[in-house]
Amino acid sequence: MLTENEIKEWKQLPPDLSGMRASIIGMARSGVAAAKLLKSRGCHVLVSDSKSDGELKRQASALQNLDIDIELGKHSDRLLDCDFIVRSPGVPADIAILRKAQEDGILIVSEIEVASWFCRAPIIAVTGSNGKTTTVEWIGDLFGRSERKVAVCGNVGTPFSAIVDDLDEESVAVLEISSFQLENIVRFRPRVAAVTNFSPDHLDRYASYEAYIRTKCRIFENQNSDDALIFNRGDARLSSMVTGAKGKKLSFGCDESFEPGVGLWDNTLVVSNPVGCLSLMKRTELNLRGWHNLENGMVVVCVALEMKAPFKALQESLREFKGVPHRLEVVTESHGILWINDSKATNIASAMVALDSFERPLILLAGGRDKGSDFAGIAPQLNAKVKSVILFGEAGSAMENAWKKKVKLKRAETLENAVKLAAKSANEGDVILLSPMCASFDEFDNYMHRGDTFKELVKEYGS
Ligand code: ADP
Repeated sequence: MLTENEIKEWKQLPPDLSGMRASIIGMARSGVAAAKLLKSRGCHVLVSDSKSDGELKRQASALQNLDIDIELGKHSDRLLDCDFIVRSPGVPADIAILRKAQEDGILIVSEIEVASWFCRAPIIAVTGSNGKTTTVEWIGDLFGRSERKVAVCGNVGTPFSAIVDDLDEESVAVLEISSFQLENIVRFRPRVAAVTNFSPDHLDRYASYEAYIRTKCRIFENQNSDDALIFNRGDARLSSMVTGAKGKKLSFGCDESFEPGVGLWDNTLVVSNPVGCLSLMKRTELNLRGWHNLENGMVVVCVALEMKAPFKALQESLREFKGVPHRLEVVTESHGILWINDSKATNIASAMVALDSFERPLILLAGGRDKGSDFAGIAPQLNAKVKSVILFGEAGSAMENAWKKKVKLKRAETLENAVKLAAKSANEGDVILLSPMCASFDEFDNYMHRGDTFKELVKEYGS
């Protein structure tokens, strides 16, 4: 059986895993990619998923053609007959089979850990509660403007395992990493790690906020002095967590600071390092709106500095990067009413930064599936920022209870009715913002489905 110590002591990568038996739990995209990668390296692979629907069966037969073993509809003890287990990020840590594996002393690793064993390119890894996708796509845009081959992967779409063999020492792997992927790392060591910010999220899957933060900070636990750690110095909890980090620290914040990294002096982005300061550009030259996107842009600047990306590529990327769909995405401006799709705002913090990004009167559409958020705590700030809130979906009642008599509220059962109500009540000059603070699964397949539906509804009712 493979052990943590053995992995930590590997002198050379990639390791020789031929003949080893790997069990993979969860057959979503990253599980499938890890299975193929390990098979190509000579492992005997068994993939298991507790579901057995049509799509999984299709995936399963494709894997069987590669001589990968499959088990659908259960996780049997066959999985324990292995040298190590790969846990997919969607699979909870405490399911019976994983508890048994732990009792048997079987090593459980995540898909990014496995992929990193085979990665020849330097890894730039981004985690945090909000801003990960925007930031990794922006870093991808930066390198896309230089000569370097870049792959943006991880949580954001393509699994790391699926592209790792396409990259060489001259390329860059830019990874979006969730806390779930960090739960089972052993030697995963990014050349550059970035932590955007912390705010309560996914508390339905963590024992406490502390536990969630500690997991996120594992992103830099294997770094050494050849590596760099980029962090948000405006986040007090994060600043205290990084004190023991071994990588070179670069911080960012909208402040006039001489700390190595990036700050904001008189509305100008300024880079500081031990030998001096350099003004980069005015804040207003960035294409993306909102203070939060300025911070995301600052991470991109820090990455550019550390990886020595060409200055011209950095300037162009800051000025021209268009953002990612479903994050403060402009849908249309019709009859003087601006419609914004921020369907990806699935927690309170991301919706609050969206509200901060507009100077015009705001009608907020919020609701969906609650993830255990403290809605009551934000009533005063919400009231200060919006004209009214239209509530929809499962969380509508919890939100109504938290905000009634404190914020002007209207109730709609579905997103469609919320859009109709918003269209009726808006005046010229208003912004109608879908920034739901909740997951989408009560009414939609995912946040993209919710955002795309919103855009269709705006076409229908918004003009
Ligand atoms: P993540 O991948 O971490 O979920 P995204 O870039 O997809 O982050 O953005 C998710 C939501 O958070 C969007 O509503 C977006 O507008 C908002 N957001 C983006 N960057 C930040 C940030 N730095 N701080 C807070 N919220 C942010």
